[in-house]
Amino acid sequence: MNRALSAVPAELAGKVVTPDDRRYRALRSTYTTVGHPAAVVLPESAGDVAAALRLARETGLRVAVRSGGHGLSGSGTNDGGLVIDLSALHRVDVIDRGSRLVRVEAGARWAQVARALAPHGLAISSGDHGNVGVGGIATGGGVGWLVRQYGLTIDHIRAVEVVLPDGTAVRADAETEPELLWVMRGAGAGAGIAVAFEIEAMELRAVGHAQLVAAVDPAGQTLRRWADVMARAPRELSTAVTLSSRGATAAAFITAVVASDSPSVIRDTVEPLLGIGDVMVQQAHVVPYTELVPPHHLHANTGQMRSSTTNGLLTDLTSDAARALVTASAAPHPVLIQLRSLGGATHDPVPSATAFAHRHQNTLVVASAFPPDDRATLATAWAPLARHTNSAYVNFESAPDEATFARAYPGPTGTRVTGLWKRYDPDGVLRPRPPT
Ligand SMILES: Cc1cc2nc3c(=O)[nH]c(=O)nc-3n(C[C@H](O)[C@H](O)[C@H](O)COP(=O)(O)OP(=O)(O)OC[C@H]3O[C@@H](n4cnc5c(N)ncnc54)[C@H](O)[C@@H]3O)c2cc1C
Repeated sequence: MNRALSAVPAELAGKVVTPDDRRYRALRSTYTTVGHPAAVVLPESAGDVAAALRLARETGLRVAVRSGGHGLSGSGTNDGGLVIDLSALHRVDVIDRGSRLVRVEAGARWAQVARALAPHGLAISSGDHGNVGVGGIATGGGVGWLVRQYGLTIDHIRAVEVVLPDGTAVRADAETEPELLWVMRGAGAGAGIAVAFEIEAMELRAVGHAQLVAAVDPAGQTLRRWADVMARAPRELSTAVTLSSRGATAAAFITAVVASDSPSVIRDTVEPLLGIGDVMVQQAHVVPYTELVPPHHLHANTGQMRSSTTNGLLTDLTSDAARALVTASAAPHPVLIQLRSLGGATHDPVPSATAFAHRHQNTLVVASAFPPDDRATLATAWAPLARHTNSAYVNFESAPDEATFARAYPGPTGTRVTGLWKRYDPDGVLRPRPPT
C-alpha cells in the first residue's frame, strides 16, 4: 500500500481499495483505459466524497472522478492517483410524480435509471448505452435516443447536489446557486463532484424502434436525403446512423426511435426514411423504453475498448460534407462514423441557458478508430471532416485539449466556464483544467 494512504479517515474505513485488495482488479480501469491508481475510494454519501477529497489533499494524490467509467478519455482512472468512484451512490427516487421530478444519484447507470422509472411510466433520454454513468452524461450533455423530443439530458436538470473541491456540499438550483447549476449543466467536470441530480423526466412507457439499412452512394446523397428527412421530421423522431464500408460499398445502419407507442404514428413517422435511397432492410417494433438501454448492457469496465474518438457538430449536411463522411468511412484505414440527429427540442433553450451552447446545429458526427493505429488513423480521417463542423460535444472526445475546449465551449461560453472553474476549483483539483 502507498504509505501516504496508511492514515485513512474513519468514515472511509472499508471504502478505500488499494492494489492489495481483491476488489482492486474490478475497480482500477474504465471502459477505454487500464488504470493503476494508488487507491479507489467508494463513497456512500456526500460526506464520504468530501473525506475522499480531504484524503487526496493530505496525501498529495491526483484525483480522478468516476461515475459509470464510460468516459472516452479515460479520465475516470489514473496511474498512481486517487480515483473517487461513485458507483455505490446509485439510488433512483421519484420525488414528485405530478411534476415528474426524479432524484438520480451520479453513480447509477442509465440502464438502472430506466428500470427504476419504468413502473412509474417515466423515462429520461440519456444516451444509447445502458452502462454509461449518470454523472458523466448529466454533467456534459446527454444526446439520447429521444433527443429531438426531450432535448439533452442536462436541459431537464433542475438541481444538482455537488461536493466542491474544498469539500463543501452545495445544492445548486436556479434560486440558490444559479451559476453553479449553469456550469454543472454541460461543463460540470471542472467545477465539482456531482453526487445527485434532480431531473424532470418525461411521460414514456413504450417507443417505436425501427432499424433500416440503406445503400450509401460515394457522393453521400443518401446521407443528404436522411438529413433532409430529419429537418422536416416531427420531434417524435430521433435517429442514429452508423456508416459502414466494405470495399467500394458503403451502407448506413439507421436506428430510428419514435416517441410514441401508436403503430400508425410510428409508421407515418418512419416512412419518409424509406425514401432516402435503396433501403435494403427494415423492421419496426413497439418496445418498452427499457429495451433501448437494457440491463444486459451492464458490465464491468476493464479497459476493454481502447479507442480514439472525436466529434463535431454540423449545421447543414452539405454535399461536400456528405462526400467527406463517406470517404472517411471507406478509407484504407476506415474510421467508424456515427451521425446523430439533433434539432427538435435541442434547439429550444437559448445558447446561454446551459454550458452546452450548441443550439442551432442539426447533426452530431462522431468518429472513432481502434488499435493498433487508432490515433494516427483518426487524425488522418478527421482532418478533411473537421472543416465542415463548427463546434463539438465535450463527451465524445478521447483526447481533450485546448482546441477541443474552444470547440465545445466557444466564445462567451468558454469565458464563463473558465471563470467558474477557477471560482469553484481554484487549486485545480479536478480535471479538465481550464486553458491558461
Ligand atoms: C459505449 C458508449 C456509448 C456512449 N453513448 C453516448 C450517447 O448516446 N450519448 C451521449 O451523450 N454520450 C454518449 N457517450 C459518451 C458519454 O457521454 C461520456 O463518455 C460520459 O462521460 C460517460 O459518463 P460516465 O459517468 O460513464 O463516465 P466516467 O468515465 O465515469 O466519467 C468521465 C468523466 O466525467 C466527469 N464526471 C463523471 N461523473 C462526474 C460527477 N459525478 N461529477 C463531476 N464530473 C463527473 C469526470 O471528469 C470524469 O472523469 C457514450 C460513451 C460510450 C463509451
